[in-house]
Amino acid sequence: LTLGVAYKRIEVMWKNLGLTGKIIVAMVLGIILGLFINYSGLNAEGGFVSTYITNGFFAIIGKLFVNSLKMLVVPLVLISLICGVCGIGDIRLLGRIGTKTFLIYMMTTALAIATAIGLGILFGIGKGMDIETEAAFEAKSAPPLLDVFSNIIPSNPISAMANGDMLSIIFFAILIGISILMVGKPAKGLVQSLELINEVILKMVTIIMNLAPYGVFALLTKAMAELGLDLIWSLLGYVAVLVGSLAFHFFITMMIVLKLFSGLSIKTFLAKMREVQIFAFSTSSSNATIPITLRTVTKRMGVNNSVASFTVPFGATINMDGTAIMQGTATIFIANIYGVDLGVTEYLTVILMSVLASVGTAGVPGVGLIMLSMVFAQVGLPIEGIGLILGVDRILDMLRTAVNVGGDAAVTAIVAKSENKMDTAIYNDPDAGAKDVFDGHIDEDNEREFSNVFSDGIMGSEYDDVDRRR
Ligand code: ASP
Repeated sequence: LTLGVAYKRIEVMWKNLGLTGKIIVAMVLGIILGLFINYSGLNAEGGFVSTYITNGFFAIIGKLFVNSLKMLVVPLVLISLICGVCGIGDIRLLGRIGTKTFLIYMMTTALAIATAIGLGILFGIGKGMDIETEAAFEAKSAPPLLDVFSNIIPSNPISAMANGDMLSIIFFAILIGISILMVGKPAKGLVQSLELINEVILKMVTIIMNLAPYGVFALLTKAMAELGLDLIWSLLGYVAVLVGSLAFHFFITMMIVLKLFSGLSIKTFLAKMREVQIFAFSTSSSNATIPITLRTVTKRMGVNNSVASFTVPFGATINMDGTAIMQGTATIFIANIYGVDLGVTEYLTVILMSVLASVGTAGVPGVGLIMLSMVFAQVGLPIEGIGLILGVDRILDMLRTAVNVGGDAAVTAIVAKSENKMDTAIYNDPDAGAKDVFDGHIDEDNEREFSNVFSDGIMGSEYDDVDRRR
């Protein structure tokens, strides 16, 4: 009986929790369960739990969840950006917003890596450490920067979409948008239809967000069950300085930048970003998080779609503050371990290379390490050194991705505010966009509307004609 009562209580509590609350609880429970599975030794390879639970059940749920997010990225970016360009009014404004966004993204990334290098030097991480490389690191090559630029214009837009080449898709969408504007009035119906499609896709995002607690729980249980925290202790210096730099950059530097350039409330920003960052944390992918970031900045922060539809996918691709921080910290760490002395020139090279590397690579899991090998090659650090930090990178990837998307959203807010493309009433309303949930019920009016479409609605008369002709 008491068990039944307890269950009822928990059920009521769960129901009363808002979506953000549910996602946070799911995250914490996933981490606890995953660590339990790890430390109890249950996850032994080949055992029942490993085969059927962590790599079976949880892996499948997690994969389904990540797939459902990725499924929406390309259609959402394409359609919302076409709408965004059409809604911007003045095409010259597009160029200004583009330049401004690019410059702020680069500036914040440079700040991020400078922070990491500064803290790394201050704490002298890795000095006097003598550890063996455990895993040999095979450097995968990053796309040459020249290719990145020449591929911005896709030779085949369909294959660009199939591959999810974000910069190509952005280019193609902007071109369509500008051309629609040039066609002018006759294309109005087209734009209205696209705007409707955009709303439909955002509803799909809403549906998926409501499944997030289960997805996040599964992803984190699996990740923690596999990784555990053991490795972290052996590399504590590196991990601590890295995490400290990430926190410093996001909570201090970026929030000062946000306040200074936009005057917006920091507290509100952080509260509304929580969901987005948990998504980024559990998927380790800025790209997969695009739908959530876009929905949050437009519906919850009041950023006009004409700005957000460009800055968010653009940022997911070229702006990676967290990743740049990892590169700065790793450079200092590995240099100290191998006893390589880096001078000012090398540090400047590291900053430049990291910023460039972050432009050239997409926001997907683990890409930061590939970029790191590019940086190491430039300053003459041994690539094998990356093998030292390989073991902890999976967990740190989660953290830095949360910082990456945080930067995308902050810059989006700054640019939107400065261009007067933000509804501050929505920004300041804590509940804005939070009530748009999917609970399996469809509004009755809507249901009635569509159930009649074929019998006596708009389509009715046409169908009568067809029947008569037969
Ligand atoms: N996973 C990161 C992202 O998607 C990139 C990285 O640092 O590996 O933003």
